[in-house]
Amino acid sequence: FNYQTARFMTSAPTLAHCPPDEGAEVAFAGRSNAGKSSAINTLTRQKALARTSRTPGRTQLINLFSLGDDTTRRLVDLPGYGYAKVPEEVKREWQRHLAEYLRARRSLKGVVLVMDVRHPLTEFDQTLLGWADEQEMPVHILLTKSDKLKSGAAKSALQQVRTRLREWEDLVSIQLFSSLKREGVDEVSRRLDGWLAG
Ligand code: GDP
Repeated sequence: FNYQTARFMTSAPTLAHCPPDEGAEVAFAGRSNAGKSSAINTLTRQKALARTSRTPGRTQLINLFSLGDDTTRRLVDLPGYGYAKVPEEVKREWQRHLAEYLRARRSLKGVVLVMDVRHPLTEFDQTLLGWADEQEMPVHILLTKSDKLKSGAAKSALQQVRTRLREWEDLVSIQLFSSLKREGVDEVSRRLDGWLAG
């Protein structure tokens, strides 16, 4: 697929308002400020498709992008989670929605989980991995901002995450990524191609 053709389709306040559950979609999730919007913009080679923000946690809508005119192939930008300023009840509500989406959305073929390579596997990352595991939903982890570490340190961070997730290696793939340096784009594109082709 040519991810450069991605274009804004619609925003939805909750997963219940998302477009019809047909075709195939891939969702991007991650802790606020992990670098999720930047990763989407890098993948699609568009400066501001997903809005990056210096105020973590501001993006609260689910944004959907179609690949060109084909609304049966979609990228889904889920709200960043885990920001401390969001009230606990709102967080819990969102988590319920997210778990339900992973359970019920038939067109969802995989989740790209974006983590800052310097702070991988937060508590909520692990919760999400647990839900994905329950649904046998494949997850591709981007350890992003890899340019912030020296190459050796980045590789060892990758190795550590691989080791910690070894029990899930059938469902979970992991790579280094840098939006700043545009590194890792081909690898994530290939993984998405596999999910969206089905
Ligand atoms: P989001 O909240 O997960 O969507 O995170 P953003 O994409 O808005 O990024 C949060 C901050 O990290 C911004 O200041 C970005 O410029 C920065 N950032 C994102 N990706 C990278 C990267 O690959 N390398 C570096 N050095 N900074 C990045």
